[in-house]
Amino acid sequence: MVYPEQQRRAYLKALGIDVWLPRDVPDDIIDQHDAPSGDDEPDWDTLEQRVAGCTRCPLAQGRTNTVFGVGDRDADWLIVGEAPGAEEDRLGEPFVGRAGKLLDEMLRALGQSRKTVFIANILKCRPPNNRDPKNDEVAACRRYLDRQIALIQPRIILAVGRVAAQNLLGCQDPVGRMRGRVHAVNGIPLVVTYHPAYLLRSPSQKKKSWQDLCLAAGIARENGA
Ligand code: URA
Repeated sequence: MVYPEQQRRAYLKALGIDVWLPRDVPDDIIDQHDAPSGDDEPDWDTLEQRVAGCTRCPLAQGRTNTVFGVGDRDADWLIVGEAPGAEEDRLGEPFVGRAGKLLDEMLRALGQSRKTVFIANILKCRPPNNRDPKNDEVAACRRYLDRQIALIQPRIILAVGRVAAQNLLGCQDPVGRMRGRVHAVNGIPLVVTYHPAYLLRSPSQKKKSWQDLCLAAGIARENGA
C-alpha cells in the first residue's frame, strides 16, 4: 500500500521512530512524491534512461557504465551502498566484487537475495580511484535515488557503510553511532550497518552487523513485509 508522505511520517512518529530528513531538502520537495505523475516523477523506464544519459556531474566523463541498481522494483528491502567500484563500472551492476559476495551472504541469512531486494548506491557513477563521493556529486545524483525510493516504497532501507548512512541521513556521525537504532528517510524506516568491505577487513564486527540485520528484519515485519 502507498501511504501519503505526511501520513507515513505521522505513523512513524507514533511508533516512536525518529524521522530524519536529509539536510537542505525542504519538505515541499519531499512531498512532491505525493503529487500526480509528471515530468519530475519519471517511471522506471524513464528514470533508467535518464541515469544512463546523465551528465549532471563530472563523473559522467570517466564512467564505462552507469550503475542504476538491481533487483525487485517492488521489494520490501532497499539496500543502499556507496558508489560503484571498478568492476561495478565495467559490468553496470552494484556489489559484484568480494564485498558483493559477502552482501549476498548477508541477504541469504535474511532469507533474501539480490533478486528479492533492490540494491542501489548513493552514486550511479564510479568516483576515480574509489575515493569518497564529493558533496556536489551526491547532490547531483540524489534525485535518482529519491525517485527509486519513492517508486519502490520499501518496508525498510538498509544503509551499508558510512558514506551511504551519512548521505541518506544528512549527518557526519560514524557508523558506530548510527547503527543499532531506527532512523527514517523520506518517511521510510532506515537501519545502518557496516559496509561489507569493512566487514571483510574487520570480521569481528560481523556479530554487530547481524544484530543490525535482525533489527531491520523486525522493522520490516512490523511494517508489513
Ligand atoms: N561498494 C558499494 O558501496 N557499492 C557497490 O556497488 C560496490 C561496492
